[in-house]
Amino acid sequence: MLEWGDPVIKAITKENTKKLIKEASELGLVHTTDNKGTNVRLICSCCECYCALLSGLTKLDNPRAIGRANYVAKVYEQLCVGCGTCIDRCKFGAITVNEVSVINIDKCMGCGLCAVTCPEEAIKMKRYEREEIPFDREEIEIL
Ligand code: SF4
Ligand code: SF4
Repeated sequence: MLEWGDPVIKAITKENTKKLIKEASELGLVHTTDNKGTNVRLICSCCECYCALLSGLTKLDNPRAIGRANYVAKVYEQLCVGCGTCIDRCKFGAITVNEVSVINIDKCMGCGLCAVTCPEEAIKMKRYEREEIPFDREEIEIL
């Protein structure tokens, strides 16, 4: 861990953050963050091999190791050519391809990695409310 004030730590703009996040997605890194409504402090982009949290899903049998995003992948079948690129992109085994790609929404974590590199842009992320995002304790006390 780095000490606060270490010159390696740099402030970046929101636009630069978005650019880095997009690059990390293209590399196949899954984004995780705090599961809370406000004052989010981190975005972590990690692989399934080393991330202790993601490993709970990819190596261990703990489906609640991390909360899911309130999004799921949706395939537009008329655009899908069945190339199978999305199968390799999904760390959670949520995709099968016969003639076209099929998403198992129970396994889909909503990470979006399949959508980012689909050559036909046949996958879009759709809002899907399924996880409760808790408020901070202070906010609960105010309520
Ligand atoms: S990557 Fe895109 S085009 Fe290829 S199988 Fe998956 S959804 Fe279809
Ligand atoms: S969005 Fe869902 S289907 Fe696509 S890579 Fe992530 S977990 Fe797999």
